[in-house]
Amino acid sequence: MRFANYAGRAAVTDGTRAVYVADASNGKFADEPDRIYAVWDEFTAWAQTVDPAEGFALEPAKLEAPSPQPRQVFAVGLNYAEHARESGLDKPTEPAVFTKFPSSVSGPQTVLELPTDTVDFEAELVAVVGRYSYRVPETQGWEHIAGLTVGQDISERTRQLTGPAPQFSLGKSFPGFSPTGPWLVTPDELDRRDDLGIGCSINGQVMQNGRTDDLIFSVPAIVAKLSAILPLLPGDLIFTGTPSGVGGARKPPVFLRDGDILETWVEGIGTITSTCRAGIPYPPADES
Ligand code: ZN
Repeated sequence: MRFANYAGRAAVTDGTRAVYVADASNGKFADEPDRIYAVWDEFTAWAQTVDPAEGFALEPAKLEAPSPQPRQVFAVGLNYAEHARESGLDKPTEPAVFTKFPSSVSGPQTVLELPTDTVDFEAELVAVVGRYSYRVPETQGWEHIAGLTVGQDISERTRQLTGPAPQFSLGKSFPGFSPTGPWLVTPDELDRRDDLGIGCSINGQVMQNGRTDDLIFSVPAIVAKLSAILPLLPGDLIFTGTPSGVGGARKPPVFLRDGDILETWVEGIGTITSTCRAGIPYPPADES
């Protein structure tokens, strides 16, 4: 099943057509995508009865973040061995976890404002939590995931490395720095949910190209590690790490520039597109 946020409304889609959840369920389920995650098991059982082919034609530009207001956004650094190596660091024995603040979450087709000239890209598989999850064993990790989506862990490398200790959370939380989408795909839709192709390109040139079976800490392992410490909440996002090829590790470095088209994909899920813009007057317009 594919769950989408279509212009702010919860929808079930087959990728080309969609039905609104609230309408098709006669109001049994909420219109707001955020509220669906709280009743995910009940919702997915109902969604089996829906045929999105009978719905309206999707306009891709109207797709928004599948979980637009998560209460927590986790991210795991250095979770692919080759990326740890290119970053000059050892392969971690424990996940390197930081947060991307929820205000940075955006959708699958967005303008990405570049606040500086050292903004980097990180293609990532993003897992969306589907249940209250506390002290979950790794063997049950997948049962707590509502689905998977495509994400970018956009990273302002100067801020990230400024100060006496790295500031991952700030450097990766400028507005729009967490694009996600184009929809959520439930794990049962994927023949090989632990081994998906992942990558990104700038203006058509492939910059990252990996597979999620290279993850050092798998999705269920991350669920176990995080939930051993704190509860994961329905709708929370987990950015699972990026394969090698990021711009800052290249010689010379490759950072995002005004006009760049950054496309990011995960096999079996889809592609998201970020159109880079520099020089937008500061402070940005209020988007409340
Ligand atoms: Zn990352």
